[in-house]
Amino acid sequence: MEKKRYNIYSEHLKNKYGEKVYKLPVNLPGTCPNRDGNVSVDGCTFCDEEGSGFECLPNDLSVKKQIEINKAFFIKRFKAKKFIVYFQAFTNTYMPLEEFKSCIIQAVKDPDVVGVSISTRPDCAASEYLDFLAKVKQRYNISIDVELGLQTVNYHSLIKINRGHTLAEYIDAALAIKSRGFNLVTHLILNLPYDTMTDVIENAKVVSALQSDYVKLHSLYIVKGTALSKDYQEEKFSLISLEEYVERVVTFVEYVSPDIVIQRIVGKGPQGNLDFCNWQTSWWKIKEMIDQKLEEENTFQGRKCNYLDGSAVRKEFM
Ligand code: SF4
Repeated sequence: MEKKRYNIYSEHLKNKYGEKVYKLPVNLPGTCPNRDGNVSVDGCTFCDEEGSGFECLPNDLSVKKQIEINKAFFIKRFKAKKFIVYFQAFTNTYMPLEEFKSCIIQAVKDPDVVGVSISTRPDCAASEYLDFLAKVKQRYNISIDVELGLQTVNYHSLIKINRGHTLAEYIDAALAIKSRGFNLVTHLILNLPYDTMTDVIENAKVVSALQSDYVKLHSLYIVKGTALSKDYQEEKFSLISLEEYVERVVTFVEYVSPDIVIQRIVGKGPQGNLDFCNWQTSWWKIKEMIDQKLEEENTFQGRKCNYLDGSAVRKEFM
């Protein structure tokens, strides 16, 4: 049997629920404190107007309707039976609390929904929202994932991309999420122009130390009209090659804890209106390159995860 070199999300869900589980994206009308002036008006330098929800239905449809439409599609096409509702676009815990509650309740009332996944920013994981989710988890016996866009642990880079938060807010939110028994999902971009391999390794170490349950890896895409696009056009930075990127992903996989499930090893990126996305290479080709490199180097997830739990004093590392 072929050696499994990292924890694959679809297999993890199958083991957890006993069958294939499908994600239903829901797009809520919303904004982001990093764009509406609360934190900043400029947004992250790579952010386009879509709020990262480019695969979603229009946000003027109710949560119930969006679930209905997406569910019907998956049932017809794959005979799907179990679903996770994925509140994907913008910063979902930034809307008024009562509105947030109503959206979540609409999702969890569906008997085929086994979990919800909520995307937000590290500076928007407030106790009121998390405490409500804890009650929902208990009452409806469902799994709650909270997805934090961290992008990098390098807080100098976070300032350069105008994230409007640094590493501390991520640590604070991660602890709050884990303490309530939710699953923590961390998004990382492994080819930020200001980051090196040292940052990639530190990304793996920090998410492992904080026991993130899942990670989603992305490569940076550059949408025309963004601040990042302007800097790119003016050649203020350069991007690493695809080969170097593959090397970074493999190194990340080696350093990250073997307990973490890799929800996404390559991001697809949006269609059109782009200066740069995935080196003009399809995501599955990049995935193949990563798999091949892991194979060639006969390496695997967690092989270098030897830095936790007082590593210097443990016998096996002396
Ligand atoms: S946090 Fe997300 S929605 Fe907000 S500015 Fe950054 S990328 Fe855009």
